[in-house]
Amino acid sequence: MKSALLAALAATLLVTAPADAEPSLGRQVLPPNDGWAAEGAGTTGGAAAPPSNVHVVDTRGELVTALAAPSPKIIYVRWRIDGNTDDAGNPLSCTDYFADGYTLEAYLAAYDPAVWGRATRPSGPLEDARRASAANQNERIRVKVGSNTTIVGLGRAVLSGLNLHVDKADNVIVRNISFVDAADCFPVWDPTDGSAGNWNSAYDNISVTGSTHVWVDHNTFTDGDNPDSAQPRYFDRPFQVHDGALDITNAANFVTVSWNRFADHDKTMLIGSTNNPANDRGKLNVTLHHNHFRATLQRMPRVRFGQVHVYDNFYEIPESVSYALGVGVESAIVAESNVFALADTVDPSELVFDWGGTVITARDNLLRTGRHAAPVDLVGVYNAAHDPDLGADAGWTPTLHTRITPARQVPALVTRNAGAGNC
Ligand code: CA
Ligand code: CA
Repeated sequence: MKSALLAALAATLLVTAPADAEPSLGRQVLPPNDGWAAEGAGTTGGAAAPPSNVHVVDTRGELVTALAAPSPKIIYVRWRIDGNTDDAGNPLSCTDYFADGYTLEAYLAAYDPAVWGRATRPSGPLEDARRASAANQNERIRVKVGSNTTIVGLGRAVLSGLNLHVDKADNVIVRNISFVDAADCFPVWDPTDGSAGNWNSAYDNISVTGSTHVWVDHNTFTDGDNPDSAQPRYFDRPFQVHDGALDITNAANFVTVSWNRFADHDKTMLIGSTNNPANDRGKLNVTLHHNHFRATLQRMPRVRFGQVHVYDNFYEIPESVSYALGVGVESAIVAESNVFALADTVDPSELVFDWGGTVITARDNLLRTGRHAAPVDLVGVYNAAHDPDLGADAGWTPTLHTRITPARQVPALVTRNAGAGNC
């Protein structure tokens, strides 16, 4: 309430007063030592922008124009921007993107396993039409973020139906924004994914690829009013229209993810998208701290290759979970002082999943069921229930971090202060 009021005031000042009255949020930089993004020169985003490079945006078109402007730059997002809009700001629906005869009904008829089988991925005219339709949506909803940029929300800023793509950039800050429902109108059917096939989607809320020094702080990520539970099933599999909330892949490095809220989402955070070490080995170093994961199902995060420090996060799992910490190929997770609040139907041995890794360091983590909180040895609990066992030493000691809050204080602190509106 208070922050919304302040933001409204700040926004008014922005358009009526000289630039020295602009809100300070856009000028803030990553504190020294605050996670992997503090490595080397640290992360300052667009903090050094001259007044001419400070933008306030209200529409998708203004956002795209501001993102293409010279750097360093600060972009203030005011209120709500929807990616699925045309150049005049009119809303677009999925059917507006249809091309070359695509309809979902035709696609379902063509690639029904009873017709197409399960041995190969879809190909042919209707898959081509799906791709052409998807390209139309991609052109609207994927927006690229370049180097030396800060994007911050004023008050209750929302980016809905948008994929913010931080691609091959250095020095980017994203703060104080609610990211909502980056739904893909054109999920692809892959009968070869898993034992029963899967519908897969293209868009994360934020994708960080091939980029360095990125700070993602005090944002909220949800599927909004379009949750997975509202989607249909086709071919007896969930029609998954969402991908990651925040995926960090393709040799990205030096990223700090702090004080965000991730809620009601399936594939939450993928760090590394391939087992091929060619580009990712030695990179994908990420810090996650003081984030709130609530009713998220998997990938909190799932890691390949990176040295990933996961501390002081609050995992609230009210119903079920696939897993929280995914130990992938050559990953080196150090998980400390996190709190896992589980429904009593959730088995703590499911909190870690072995995706082909061998080690994870875990210390000072707490398990809470009901009102009872107790220390949990995540690796010991995992190893007692699964084979092969995981080693308990990830082989490195994090040095880039600020004060580590004792786990017992984490739930209240993070619940109160994580997410957009709490900068
Ligand atoms: Ca993704
Ligand atoms: Ca075992």
